[in-house]
Amino acid sequence: MQQHLALFDPFEKMQFGYRTCFLCGNTITQDQVTQVFPEWLMQEYDITERPLQMLDQSVVQFKDLQVPCCRRCQTQYIQPLEEQVQAAAQQGVAGLRALEPKLLFQWLGKMFYGTLINELIKEQDPLIKPEYAVSEQPKMLMKFQSFFKVLQSLRVPMTFADFLPGSIFVVDVDAAAEPSRFEFRDDLTTMMISLRLDNAMIVCCLLDNELLKRAMRRVWAEVEPRKLQPIQAAEFSARVFYGAYLLNVIPDYLPRQAKPQDEVLVMDSLIDDVTDVIFNPWENSAYAKMLALSWARWGVTQADILKDPEAPISMLFTPAGEFVEFPEVPGQA
Ligand SMILES: [Zn+2]
Repeated sequence: MQQHLALFDPFEKMQFGYRTCFLCGNTITQDQVTQVFPEWLMQEYDITERPLQMLDQSVVQFKDLQVPCCRRCQTQYIQPLEEQVQAAAQQGVAGLRALEPKLLFQWLGKMFYGTLINELIKEQDPLIKPEYAVSEQPKMLMKFQSFFKVLQSLRVPMTFADFLPGSIFVVDVDAAAEPSRFEFRDDLTTMMISLRLDNAMIVCCLLDNELLKRAMRRVWAEVEPRKLQPIQAAEFSARVFYGAYLLNVIPDYLPRQAKPQDEVLVMDSLIDDVTDVIFNPWENSAYAKMLALSWARWGVTQADILKDPEAPISMLFTPAGEFVEFPEVPGQA
């Protein structure tokens, strides 16, 4: 295979360290790094010093999260992507929706993966014995390994045969009265990442080949053309996070045999949906727990949500399935 189409697999020998470029695997000096959360994003939303909790419960600031990255990957691949996303983000929801989904996937994927790398590098430190070590979870490592193959489309010219690796939703939120312009949430286990930049909430499951988007197509058809109230956006987000939790398959990706003259690597994808169910069964109590987390700031509890155990309350849809134009916060009507 041609050198520029060769993929790097850091999971094979767990090559994570301050001297290994996260994207191409080249050995670098320790001063070559890239920010996990891009500089423009931190400046625009004034989050450089905002705290972020890591898996080992330690607290860092957004600006502290960096990954080893060679100059070539930084200037040729990361920087141009950041410029495109920044320009799109300045146009709000419409701009982000107009962006090629593959770019948005790469952009979100890089922040997710960068956060993960920070956990993995720390775990390699013999002085740190984390209680919950990602590197000791074989199923999670399989997911990350699979995901990193397609994330390398950041660097390696690559087309996805007939899929997008993740489900991405860009939601329009009426955030005028929100206390903060920026929100961030991720979950390594379920490969979920979510950001809100002013009125644009991006919710993404990074490793499902759009299965979630397909499963949620009726909900999304109602949500996509509308501007949601924050409590509705929080519910939508909870539905996606819960859906990702139910997802029971891990897509795998295989590069097609490249011919010597090939300029682009074509990726095929496999999902074993014959032996495995794609989604585990929906359970109202578990969903209500997740929704209560999303709705905590409105003071809505799991018990409120499950007043009718068969039908958790919703701020998006009436019991008849109609979209709720003017949601009333439970208990405050
Ligand atoms: Zn590199």
